[in-house]
Amino acid sequence: MKEITNVSHDDATKKKIYDSIRAIPDFPKKGIIFRDITPLLLQPMLLKETIKLMVEPIKDKPIDKIVAIESRGFIFAPLIATQLNISMVLARKPGKLPGACIEAQYILEYGNNILQMHQDAINPNDNVLIIDDVLATGGTALAVQKLIIQAKGKLYGHSFLIELSDLKGRDKLGKTEVHSIIQY
Ligand code: AMP
Repeated sequence: MKEITNVSHDDATKKKIYDSIRAIPDFPKKGIIFRDITPLLLQPMLLKETIKLMVEPIKDKPIDKIVAIESRGFIFAPLIATQLNISMVLARKPGKLPGACIEAQYILEYGNNILQMHQDAINPNDNVLIIDDVLATGGTALAVQKLIIQAKGKLYGHSFLIELSDLKGRDKLGKTEVHSIIQY
């Protein structure tokens, strides 16, 4: 009975999150439907519920570090990291991190880029969870996987708020845990 109540509460929350995300057609270029999370950020209680849902499947798991992907991963990752009491590492666009970096290239749904991480941020064998707002083609998240491998860390998995299922990004990420709250 308790379980049924929880499921319906989570489903109702997911519906509210889904409704809060705004679709902006042809942004940043023609043909892209941009999933805008800023209306969700205007609702602190709903943001709290969102973090709870993202934390649920990974709490009590052997995760040593979270890597947050610039830029909207920076919104969700620290909220999750502080809940789980684990440390957080930034994966940033070139020229932003002050220390010595490792880097990996990736192809975005709308362009090319490079992501960098401080070379001493991940210790060998650290179990690492990667966090971002949206999983689209999976190119960005795959680049961060490569950074973790370069640093000799272990990939625990990924957590996204939104998954654009048609783009099959999940397939690109290989045999690892991939969690998402909302699917389009
Ligand atoms: P991808 O590498 O194709 O999986 O793209 C994921 C990255 O691009 C994430 O950091 C997202 O923030 C951003 N992104 C890609 N497509 C979209 C979209 N349709 N709406 C919002 N953000 C997107």
